[in-house]
Amino acid sequence: MADTNDWTPTSWRSKPIKQEVVYDNQLAVNKAVTKLSNLPPLVTAHEIWKLRASLRDVALGKSFLLQGGDCAELFSYCNAGSIDSKTKLLLQMSLVLVYGANKPVVRIARMAGQYAKPRSSPMETQPDGTKIPSFRGDILNGFPAEERAIDPGRLVEAYFHSAATLNYLRAQLASGVADLHNPLDWNLGHVSDPDLAERYHKIVDSIAESLRFMRTIGADTAGQLQTVDLYTSHEGLLLEYESAMTRKLRHPNNKFSACAGTPAEAHSNNSDSEDDEDESGHYNTSAHFLWVGDRTRQPDHAHIEYFRGIINPIGIKVGPTTSVSDLCELLDVVNPDKEIGKVTLITRYGQDKVADLLPTHIKAVRESGHIVVWQCDPMHGNTRSTATGIKTRSFGAVFNELEASLRIHRALGSVLGGVHLELTGDDVTECTGGSVGLEDEDLGSRYETFCDPRLNEKQALELAFLIAGFQRK
Ligand code: PEP
Ligand code: MN
Repeated sequence: MADTNDWTPTSWRSKPIKQEVVYDNQLAVNKAVTKLSNLPPLVTAHEIWKLRASLRDVALGKSFLLQGGDCAELFSYCNAGSIDSKTKLLLQMSLVLVYGANKPVVRIARMAGQYAKPRSSPMETQPDGTKIPSFRGDILNGFPAEERAIDPGRLVEAYFHSAATLNYLRAQLASGVADLHNPLDWNLGHVSDPDLAERYHKIVDSIAESLRFMRTIGADTAGQLQTVDLYTSHEGLLLEYESAMTRKLRHPNNKFSACAGTPAEAHSNNSDSEDDEDESGHYNTSAHFLWVGDRTRQPDHAHIEYFRGIINPIGIKVGPTTSVSDLCELLDVVNPDKEIGKVTLITRYGQDKVADLLPTHIKAVRESGHIVVWQCDPMHGNTRSTATGIKTRSFGAVFNELEASLRIHRALGSVLGGVHLELTGDDVTECTGGSVGLEDEDLGSRYETFCDPRLNEKQALELAFLIAGFQRK
């Protein structure tokens, strides 16, 4: 179990920390942390183990992982329309990927808690030359210039916005928003290239046909077509929040004994004993899945210290500055028992670097004996600025990195287990390219992100079609 070796939910406090937050009002922070520590969990140990079992399947090549959502959620995104459009998009993309990979798809939203952002500088220069604190996400301060002071009360607000988002998400899923008996609106009118349009329509027809067939033969006896699992995730950046949301809980049962090395397997004979210490462990109850960002993944620093103690499946961003030795050390620190699929390596090199860097990382991890989920984040290595200084990403670059990753894994006998995307269900203009044909000059019309540029609904769905096309080759 990871709970050995002096780990506690707050042992990270004794380590050096990146992206540190300096609070003026420690009393208010303590009050927020106490409040969070007493609020009910947002997710359960049962759900966390269920996701771990699913990610084990992804690591073994039996399922595919789709993870996506905003770069930074704002509290104002906690409304029915935004949640519905993202849910619908993730569902549609996942159906396309099921078709492409010919495997079940595990869905994780970057949603219901993605409120903290790492920044390259703590201060930002305004157009008039004045400096103000950078926006660090709604969990700490507000985007408007006059709201940039850190407000510890926002930690608790973050919990309630997560709770409201998750509550609506769960209610919608339970009420049939993802019921595959209902026809889906695929909205492909913008695809003007006839070859592409034909390829996409072929995929949609094939999905519709499969669903029709299952209904006809009554394959839905257990109601599997009525709803889907959708897990939540965010970057585990703000450790005051994450450690306050960490609870010591008993292992739910041994239903997920597919997870090698779980307490359920080790102690399957005495799973009824109420207070068996070995049966319990620490769970981050703010989300099912958390990842550590590219800027905070130093093996001997605070974030990795926190991450090594939680039972949740975790992600680690891996980029051009990740050395092979750091990568192997990180895996040993956060997953000493080498549990399959416990760790997802989220690679984000950029289209120009992926061919140089990914093969070395794949070989090193293989030699280390760890079996991870390899997930491609084709967004964060491909950010560029337009001539007028707008931060964007081109659809072509995003797809290039993704396609190169698929090709490299295949060539090395490894599996690309999933994709990690920044997307929104809304019709924004933040990334260029794709069949919507956005150019640099078009970005001004609906550029709404407060952080990184996101694929819009059409671009995200198109990316899923292209991945599926590649997988079917
Ligand atoms: C992110 O996922 O929004 C992010 C900040 O990524 P990275 O840590 O890879 O830069
Ligand atoms: Mn981002």
